Amino acid sequence: MNFEELCLDPRLLRAVTEMGFEQASPIQAQAIPLALEGQDLIGQAQTGTGKTAAFGLPLLQRVDPHNKKLQAVVLCPTRELAVQVAGEIRRFAKFMHGIKVLPIYGGQDISKQIRSLKGGVQVVIGTPGRIIDHIRRHTLKMEMVATMVLDEADEMLNMGFREDIETVLSHLPQERQTLLFSATMPKPIMEIAREYLHQPEIIKVVKKELTVPKIEQYYYEVNPRKKGEVLSRLLDMYDPALSLVFCNTKRKVDELVQDLKGRGYFAEGLHGDMKQSQRDRVMNGFRNGRTDILVATDVAARGLDIDDVEAVFNYDVPQDDEYYVHRIGRTGRAGRTGRAFTLVTGREIYKLKDIQRYCKTKIRRQPIPSANNVTQIRIEKILENVTDQIQSSDLTGLVAILDGYLEEQDYTAAEVAAALLQMAMGEDTGIRKQEDDFGDTGAEPGMVRLFINIGKKQKVRIGDILGAVAGESGMEGDLVGAIDMYDKFTFVEVPREYAADVIEAMQHARIKGRNINIEPASAPPNVDRK
Ligand code: AMP
Repeated sequence: MNFEELCLDPRLLRAVTEMGFEQASPIQAQAIPLALEGQDLIGQAQTGTGKTAAFGLPLLQRVDPHNKKLQAVVLCPTRELAVQVAGEIRRFAKFMHGIKVLPIYGGQDISKQIRSLKGGVQVVIGTPGRIIDHIRRHTLKMEMVATMVLDEADEMLNMGFREDIETVLSHLPQERQTLLFSATMPKPIMEIAREYLHQPEIIKVVKKELTVPKIEQYYYEVNPRKKGEVLSRLLDMYDPALSLVFCNTKRKVDELVQDLKGRGYFAEGLHGDMKQSQRDRVMNGFRNGRTDILVATDVAARGLDIDDVEAVFNYDVPQDDEYYVHRIGRTGRAGRTGRAFTLVTGREIYKLKDIQRYCKTKIRRQPIPSANNVTQIRIEKILENVTDQIQSSDLTGLVAILDGYLEEQDYTAAEVAAALLQMAMGEDTGIRKQEDDFGDTGAEPGMVRLFINIGKKQKVRIGDILGAVAGESGMEGDLVGAIDMYDKFTFVEVPREYAADVIEAMQHARIKGRNINIEPASAPPNVDRK
């Protein structure tokens, strides 16, 4: 459903369009019209379904910017979620002047929060404990609150917030709208709903029977900043003739096409804002092989008769289970092999679990290929072609020419073949004999020992190092080897094949707010190992 059909304030519509949302997700299409009417709602929705907009847009539409009093409260289980929801609601409110949105959570300086609240805040997003604290101090006044949202209600109950939630609810005016969102609907949630919601409508996305094509499906857990890099590694490694890459917004489509073009790929984008003539041009390019990567939104891909792509990439996890099935159904048609790859960041993993459950399909986790893996696989592919060439053509004439060359130049046949291989790869393979790469760094066999100029004195813990190394490089945490920490520096061992990636990724990383320097340890350490 289009956002235009949802009777939203033009300023909200403008923000949503600017954010690149192309269509309302199923939960939004159902929740927004009811919420705008002032109806109480119970929404069964997981993170990643667009639930924040489902309650955030109607909530904003009901706020009066001229009234500086508190008018809407969102309760969230964690500080991270509160910050994230506040950020998203702020983006929606971009063109609604005079609306102040503030996240409030435990652990943050309360006097700072009080100062911000004094300036007049209409929308507060907070964790239950801290909200109660402010109610008791009379720094949050609830008498004008017209909309109350319980976000991730099941999670709040799991964290033991039931009593706190009820305390907050009991301070609200009777005359109000309450929206409850939860991924699951256990009994205590229904009890709260019965007690505090007024004739709520229950909305959930009704699942159709979904038939998932039998193709290989993989997912990769990635750092959001590394998505472009991981996608390009997968493209290089699997080298599909035609690929379809899905993004959730028009804006992402445009950004990703630029990114891929910058990396030298023949990629084009398709989304709903494009004129028919532009779409035709892109599609022609894809059909006749000028473009081999098509980046699209769900809406744009819907009307296309392209079924024979070799790989589908979900650059963003789809917002709905059904989209997932539609997307991956574009590959593996007519008995051809097809593969589907999904990049997952942070909490999207829950959405992916949901997809697997509802679609009754298995999406296998794979480690992010290292730059080295990619090169190895490209070499194997070229060598396979070489074998085919030897077996299928008459090379005697060329062999004679090469024999002459080898005699003249005093090179070995292997050296000549290696040079040709490098030329076939079109770049420096970066492959050196292992000893030359990092030398002996004093690590276990197969590992490289890296030096980082930060240690115990800077109050760094082993976990910080582990988190930074794995988080920045996208390498699995359990591949990290020994970590030895001293007062001013730390040694960490990583598998040789990931070492270059880790060094590169950590160049701009910060640990405990500090810039760091990382390099291969120069020699076996003369510091005693504990
Ligand atoms: P949520 O389920 O609210 O955590 O939203 C997940 C992500 O989807 C957020 O980054 C939103 O900005 C994005 N999003 C929400 N609604 C839409 C939509 N209709 N189209 C595209 N992206 C959306």
